[in-house]
Parts: sequence; C-alpha cells; structure tokens
Amino acid sequence: MLSEVFGYDSFRGEQEAVVRHVVAGGDAVVLMPTGGGKSMCFQIPSLIREGTGIVLSPLVALMHDQVAALRLAGVNAAALNSSMSMEDRREVERAYAAGELEMLYLAPERLAAPGTVELLNRGRIALFAIDEAHCVSQWGHDFRPDYLRLGALAEHWPDVPRIALTATATPETHREITERLHLGNAQHFVASFDRPNIRYRIESKQNARAQLIDFVRGSHSGEAGIVYALSRKRVEQTAAALCAAGVDAVAYHAGLPASQRLEAQTRFLREDGVVVVATIAFGMGIDKPDVRFVAHIDLPKSVEGYYQETGRAGRDGLPSETWLAYGLADVVQQRQMIESGDGDAATRANQTRHLNQMLALCEGVECRRVFLLRYFGETGVAACGNCDVCLNPPHLWDATIPAQMLLSTVIRTQRERSRTYAAGQHIDVLRGVASERVTQMRLDELSTWGIGKDWSIAQWRGLVRHMLAVGLLEAQGEWGVLAPTEAAKPVLRGETEVHMREEVVVRAGRSGRAVR
Ligand code: ADP
Ligand code: ZN
Repeated sequence: MLSEVFGYDSFRGEQEAVVRHVVAGGDAVVLMPTGGGKSMCFQIPSLIREGTGIVLSPLVALMHDQVAALRLAGVNAAALNSSMSMEDRREVERAYAAGELEMLYLAPERLAAPGTVELLNRGRIALFAIDEAHCVSQWGHDFRPDYLRLGALAEHWPDVPRIALTATATPETHREITERLHLGNAQHFVASFDRPNIRYRIESKQNARAQLIDFVRGSHSGEAGIVYALSRKRVEQTAAALCAAGVDAVAYHAGLPASQRLEAQTRFLREDGVVVVATIAFGMGIDKPDVRFVAHIDLPKSVEGYYQETGRAGRDGLPSETWLAYGLADVVQQRQMIESGDGDAATRANQTRHLNQMLALCEGVECRRVFLLRYFGETGVAACGNCDVCLNPPHLWDATIPAQMLLSTVIRTQRERSRTYAAGQHIDVLRGVASERVTQMRLDELSTWGIGKDWSIAQWRGLVRHMLAVGLLEAQGEWGVLAPTEAAKPVLRGETEVHMREEVVVRAGRSGRAVR
C-alpha cells in the first residue's frame, strides 16, 4: 500500500509499527510532530481493513485537502459536512452504505447530529481515526467541546479500533487524550518531537517590520515562508510592507473573500518563493514540504501553538529557520487580552499558564531545542548547536539595581499620586524625561526622578518586559497599568537578584554587571 498507493519506498519512524497494530485491530495513541507522517498511520489501515475508515477532523478545509489528495492517489474517499449541498450529502451517504468508500471524513460535531449513528451503522467501519486529538484537552491551547463526545465511540462501537493522533501533546495532554477518549487499552507510539533541521531564533522586538524584512531578505531571499501575525490588520500591513520591500508576499486571513484566500494558498503551494502573511488560521493541513522559514511578528499564545506553527517549516528535512520577535507590548497586550477575555477564572489561569511558558522560552538562556523538547516530555537532550542560544550564547546580567529602581518608581507613583501609569511614564520618570503627562502629574518630584538616565528607552522596556515575563510586575486592567507582584518584595529588600539576558542591558554598561 505504501508504495503502490502513496508512492513511498519505506515507512518513517513509528509508522510501520502503528500500521501493524491498528490493522490487527488494536487502539493506538500516536504523538508525532507536524510533518512526521501521521496520515499514513490511519490511511493505510483504512485501506487494508475491511470497511470504511472514519476520520474525525476538526477543520472543513483540512478535510477537503486530504480527501482531494487521497482521490488523486486513487483512493475512494469522501467528506460529510454541513457546507455540502443536500444532494452531495445524499450521494456520500449512499456510497458509504453501499460499502464503496474506503475513507470518510467527518467533523466531530457531526457525530451528535441526528441520524449520524444510524448512518454509520448502515455501513461497515474499518476504524476511527481522531485527528488533532489534543483538541479534547480542556487545558490545552485548542480545546473543542465537540471532541469530548468522541469518548462515546468506544461504547457505540466497542469492536472498532480507534487511533488518536496529535502533534502537540505535552505529557499532560497525552494523559487527557488517553482518559477522555477512553483509550485505556491503547498502545502508545511517541515519536521524538525533535526537528533537527529547524533552527530556532527568538529576538527582542525594536521595529518588528524592519527586523522581519531584514530577516526575510537577508537570510531567505526568494524562498517560500510563512509569517504569522495576530490580527487581520497586522497581516495586511505586514504583507504590504514586505511587498514594498520587494518580497513576493500575499495576505491570508479569515476576513478576506474566499477567492482571495484560495488564490493566496494556491500561489503559495504552486509557485516558488511566495511568502504568506497569515493569522494562525493558515497552515493546518497545508502540506508544502519546502517552506524554508516560519516567522512570528507577534508573540504566540502558547508553546504548543508556537511549535505547531514553526513545525510547518522544513518538512522536506532540509535546513530551515524559524524567527520570532517579541517585545514589551506583546506581553502587556496578551496579559490584557486574557484579563478582558470572556473565559472564567479557570480559563484565564490556564491561558496565563500557557503565556508564561511561552515567555519562559523567550526569556530563557538555555538551548531552545532543549527547552522545547523538555516541554514535550523529552529529557536528557543535549544542546543542539543549531539555535540562536547555542550559536550565540546570551550572557546573564545582574539587573537587580535597575529592577529595584523600576519597582520603587512604580510603587511611588502609585502611593504618592494615587494614580497609576503605564510603562512609558515610569520610564520617563526613571530617565528624567519631562513629558507633558509627567510634569502635569508632578512626577518629576519623585525621588526616583532621573536615577535611570544611563539606560535607553529600549533597555528599560526590555527590563519591564522581562519583569512582566517572570512575574515580578503585572499589567492590570484595560490600560495595562503596571503593579508589583508579591514576588517583587524580596527583590526590593535585596534578598533576590534579577538576572536577565544580556542583549537588553549590554549597552547599559554602568548599571549592569555580568553574572556569567
Ligand atoms: P503530519 O500529519 O504528521 O503533519 P503528514 O501525514 O501530512 O504529516 O505527512 C507529512 C509529509 O510527509 C507529507 O508530505 C507526506 O506525504 C510525507 N510522508 C509521510 N510518510 C512518508 C513516508 N513514509 N515516506 C516519505 N514521505 C512520507
Ligand atoms: Zn540549541
């Protein structure tokens, strides 16, 4: 099947073991990184076992891509979803009941729709494949309530093998998948999540667009890549800026007309060297092997998301690069988005936990790959020699004194003026810059006025960002007002030191002291 239908010479990694296990009727949980080749794990058993392989997949677009690819390979596959005409649906249902389909793709919510169980019982089921199984995890980054229903498959069809697959499982999510999908008897196949051909780079944001253009033109001129931004507006602005800089860039987000999206996607897939600037909606299920870089100009919301998105680079195994720029504004904005979001307290706490992990990665001074793999449960990994930290080790600086200055300023402005201010005003006070707001509020009378003149705005912003990232400061309310946390008290008392990456303080010279 592998060579005749799909045209490959040999299985990759765990594929063969998974295929044998599922063909023999066993349940399986498969954790493999993006591009690892999960599809073969359920497509081949669907063809070998008698009956139709039912694939539960969260995105309609992704479904259609897979079905189209299977049809090209000569496999009789179909999808059922609500965007289809009644007529088309009838035809798929007929073909299924007649035993003509080798594979049938369904959205999870379909299972709850009236008549679906009856329909499935009219044909013969070879297996259930639950793709993107991490969507069942309430604590994951991509929870979809419909996935919770999939646990019932085991009760309805106890004799049909089930295979759950994901590229984003932390040990915690792995446990949840096993429990919630009732996969207690499953065999677990856990591939290494390492993507050795990908180089990771994370830098602090000064002028994101200029930095991005430098990165693309400097290291990836004429190559295909994906640039992720958080909002539609940022997507459009960034695409325009890249075009103006001579990069062949197209915008992609859910607010664009379908025809424009299709054109962007088609150009990206068919032509060489097209750069897609997109929201995270882009990429799931897009199988382009020679994406040479993935860039993020806004901070991703979780390490899982970051790893999934960066995983779209270099599926062909050739050297590829990922680049992320993040700054103070990202940290403040995301903390505010969490606070003002409509989730309950538990959801907010969970989002905060994801963001903190992402920040720990950014602010960290250890090999990026070691961090990432440990996050996904792989320990004992050696430094990779192929990330920004390994190639250009940052130094840790003792920023305790500037941190104390900043905390004192924050506390004094709060206490003496019974008002609260955002980062910019505190930095003005520290640098002794008499801006209108500062003089108006008589902040120039504070005792910390001008004590931090040695540092540039960028350096102070770097420190604020670091302190927000490590939880010494918090940004409160819709204005992102800075306030010290409990953890800041020992810093003020001189009991705890604050160490941060050199890049931000290196030019400060006088205020910083090298730690290592
Ligand atoms: P995933 O779903 O894990 O992200 P896919 O199933 O889409 O990965 O496979 C990623 C790429 O690897 C696809 O281009 C696929 O055709 C290719 N591929 C999968 N298995 C093999 C194999 N055994 N040999 C060669 N290429 C493979
Ligand atoms: Zn490294």
